[in-house]
Amino acid sequence: MPRPLALCVALVAPSCFALPAAAQTIFPVDRAEILAGTKFDLKVEFPGAPTAAATKVTINGEDAAKVLGKAVDFKEREDGDGHSAYWIHDAVIAKPGRYNVEATSGDRKATVTWEVFDTAGGGKAKNVILFIGDGLSIAHRTAARILSKGLVEGRYGGDLAMDDMPHMALVSTSGTDSVVTDSANSATAYTTGHKSCVNALGVYCSRSKHNLAHPKAETISELVKRNRGMAVGVVTNTEIEDATPAAMVAHTRRRADYNDIVEMFYAVKPDVIMGGGSPHFLPKSTPGSKRTDDVDYIKKFEDAGYKFVTTKSELAAAKDAPKLLGLFNTGNLDGALDRFILKKGTVAKFPDQPDLTDQVRAALDVLSKNDKGFILMVESGRIDKYSHSLDWERAVYDTIMLDNAIKVAKEFAAGRNDTLIIVVADHTHPVSIIGTYDDDRPGQRLRDKLGVYQDSTVPNYPAPNADGYPEKVDVSRRLGFVFGSYPDSCDTGRPYLDGENVPAVRGPDKDYIANETHCAVPGAARRAGNLPASAPQGVHSADDVVLTASGPGAELFRGRIDNTRVFHNMVTALGLAPANGE
Ligand SMILES: [Zn+2]
Repeated sequence: MPRPLALCVALVAPSCFALPAAAQTIFPVDRAEILAGTKFDLKVEFPGAPTAAATKVTINGEDAAKVLGKAVDFKEREDGDGHSAYWIHDAVIAKPGRYNVEATSGDRKATVTWEVFDTAGGGKAKNVILFIGDGLSIAHRTAARILSKGLVEGRYGGDLAMDDMPHMALVSTSGTDSVVTDSANSATAYTTGHKSCVNALGVYCSRSKHNLAHPKAETISELVKRNRGMAVGVVTNTEIEDATPAAMVAHTRRRADYNDIVEMFYAVKPDVIMGGGSPHFLPKSTPGSKRTDDVDYIKKFEDAGYKFVTTKSELAAAKDAPKLLGLFNTGNLDGALDRFILKKGTVAKFPDQPDLTDQVRAALDVLSKNDKGFILMVESGRIDKYSHSLDWERAVYDTIMLDNAIKVAKEFAAGRNDTLIIVVADHTHPVSIIGTYDDDRPGQRLRDKLGVYQDSTVPNYPAPNADGYPEKVDVSRRLGFVFGSYPDSCDTGRPYLDGENVPAVRGPDKDYIANETHCAVPGAARRAGNLPASAPQGVHSADDVVLTASGPGAELFRGRIDNTRVFHNMVTALGLAPANGE
């Protein structure tokens, strides 16, 4: 279907409901919530490539450039494409209220409304610690509680640290372009307060051809550094350039642009940066580098006053560093099950990797020295990755690790009454616990071994060690933890003791087909995938995620909220607006 000629926004033209999200032509989009004093790019795309003189953009009836006090950057036939673009870069609106933006070209008109908010009445918190369990779903939480606290006659042996928080909300995660989000646009909602689209970090998804030329929204890291001189920490157990940590600093349409993202980390300079992914920091002349230029970012960070560490021991010795760059693996850090119990993954190659708890302790040591406060984002990122690979035991051990890190943060916050702690996921996976697999049940097939309802007897994982981890996962009575999305694959109903699960492999016609290694396991259930054949792994789901919170500002979280509200409530707790806008 050809694009309709008229600029089109659902609220003014009901017939436009049927259009794809890409038809939105005013950025920020309709119903955007913008923190007073934060920077954003206003972009209007005019189909048909009119001249500047033939277009008009107003805010509350007045010329937009005049209202924003900035020059217009008009690109006729932008990127040689069939549209013209009206840009105002780094716009700032200081006064809260409703702003109606109208874009006119000939007889075509579009309007959007923005809500500019301040944080009046807020400002009770000095610090914010935002924990993101990537892909953390209800079943991960429940399984983590069963494995680390035990379950007797229907009652758990205790609560997880993430359970024992006084405020809770359900968070909806859909993006501007889709029902099901990815980690880039969902983390963007947390770090900018703006909804975005799949694969985008800190930008709206416009028609610009260059990944770095989309309309930007300022991140909370940029804001608190510029506006308040606060400290910023970004801690993950994935590659530091991965979507969730990158959302703290990045503005790019494509989350895979790791080299650009390292440059953006350097531009923002969070005081603490910890994760994996070292090859993108090394100049291309260094063996193992994945950079395409010869910039040595490790040296640049060191020259900027950072202590660079690569192991848990070095991290422990860096307590007094003014700033910290920790890169502990070339890829993702190994998960808790591999590091502590099975010794698989890359543990032999990187035997001295820190735990998320070590990372959080070190980050708090550095960040808490800033008397203006700090914001620390901590991601347990492999809950998601292991859920993609249908490897629930690894995902759940990393949920326990996340919980241990939350415990460290709660101990830091205890008695201070100045630190808001938020625990949330960025999206869910379609996962659930449906019973117990018991090797002693009669029958040969995996389904014969599954006890449901009254036969879903409590599993026999050993009592957890002092860190909450059972030291054996391959027990005779295991959780029946199932995945609702999967490629062609064989389910063994058993943990993968030799390394992370590979459910499917590429077949001769490029479709993904079952990994026959698993099909050879006695009793394994062969299943036809319910995903497109191009998908090698499970996918995310659109279910709401659970948020729990404690500390000053935690009471702002209640009921069902959009993911952008997490940003809204964090900046309110910190009292960040009015910002000075400079
Ligand atoms: Zn994912």
